Amino acid sequence: MQSSADAQNAAIPVNFYSFTLPALQEYLKKYGKEKFRAQQIFKWVYESRVTDFEQMSNLSKDLRAELKNLISFEMPPVLKHLISVDGTQKFLFDVKNENSVEAVLIPSDDRLTLCISSEIGCNMACQFCFTGKQKLKRRLTADEIVGQFMQAYDALAREGLGRRITNIVFMGMGEPLDNSDEVFKSIDVIHSPWGVNLSRKKITVSTSGLIPEMYKVADAKVRLAVSLNGYSDEVRSQVMPINKKYPLKDLLEECKRYYRATGEKITMEYVLLKGITDQVDHAQKLAKLLKDVPCKINIIPFNEHPGSGFERPDDETVQAFHTELIRLGAHVLLRRTMGRDIYAACGQLTTKGDRPETMDISNSKIGGVHVRSFSGGQPSV
Ligand code: SAH
Ligand code: SF4
Repeated sequence: MQSSADAQNAAIPVNFYSFTLPALQEYLKKYGKEKFRAQQIFKWVYESRVTDFEQMSNLSKDLRAELKNLISFEMPPVLKHLISVDGTQKFLFDVKNENSVEAVLIPSDDRLTLCISSEIGCNMACQFCFTGKQKLKRRLTADEIVGQFMQAYDALAREGLGRRITNIVFMGMGEPLDNSDEVFKSIDVIHSPWGVNLSRKKITVSTSGLIPEMYKVADAKVRLAVSLNGYSDEVRSQVMPINKKYPLKDLLEECKRYYRATGEKITMEYVLLKGITDQVDHAQKLAKLLKDVPCKINIIPFNEHPGSGFERPDDETVQAFHTELIRLGAHVLLRRTMGRDIYAACGQLTTKGDRPETMDISNSKIGGVHVRSFSGGQPSV
């Protein structure tokens, strides 16, 4: 057992947001502290939103002084906070060494969804995705993921309108299943009653199809979204290189396994790329491909970003695709894309400085600000 003096000497305080309750209990035990102290601290932080040990009135003065050296409450600093004409808010976070990631808060009638990032850049190299243009720089740690949530939570509290985040989607920058240890640790903190206490059903992990990691989504009992974006292996491999390794047949088999394990439908995200995936016969092929997969299809007209080489289909083409899927009996959603004017829509997220801050969006009416499958950031789940 370590003495108080040892605790005082702890070189680096550990970030609180990286702790689950059992992990903090274990950590404090090393310094000779009672187990229930961890519970007390969790209550202060996630229930009362107090992160100054001096204000934790049920801890003794000495203990508070020691804890200051053991635990820090650092969250990724907000470098920029932009608000779209449609109410979408984008946060740009500093994740050290000149790196930044984005999170987007998307309001709709009955929910307020936070779309968070799991990595700086992404190695999956999907052709249509702005994040995919940047090679993976680093995977985020659990405290950086939980920190994005808490920063958005605090920003809402400061607004004083009583609005709360109702849903979280891992659809920001990065491939969550390429960083599964930290992502599922953060999910533990977010859904547990001792943490943020958000229902598992309100948490969605979106993947480009890393099949060997997908069982973890079922194990965590959270919702699964899959970036499909192609109606055949040929087209999908062209826009998503990961399809060469994990082709559609295996991917859809894994989706069915998820459904059998959880009873939850999968959300299939399907980006409409002009001339490539947006034609009526593509809708027919897509419906056929998915006919025995329990899912909802979210169609997302491509969101432009500089130098992508793809185009966004016009509103009529999008509507025709949508209508055809409905005619074929698919469960399909096309919602307003949100936050497009502040580059906060799907596939527009990037690190700072490599793109203008705002754009003109007058070319589309499906959302004065845009359409995103899972609605501008809203998954249909
Ligand atoms: N890496 C994960 C989650 C982040 S991407 C994944 O791929 O699922 C979130 C969603 O944004 C994916 O469904 C992807 O297909 C979509 N997306 C990426 N680039 C886009 C773009 N330029 N326009 C519209 N949607 C895009
Ligand atoms: Fe990565 Fe998802 Fe973008 Fe593909 S769509 S490059 S997996 S963030």
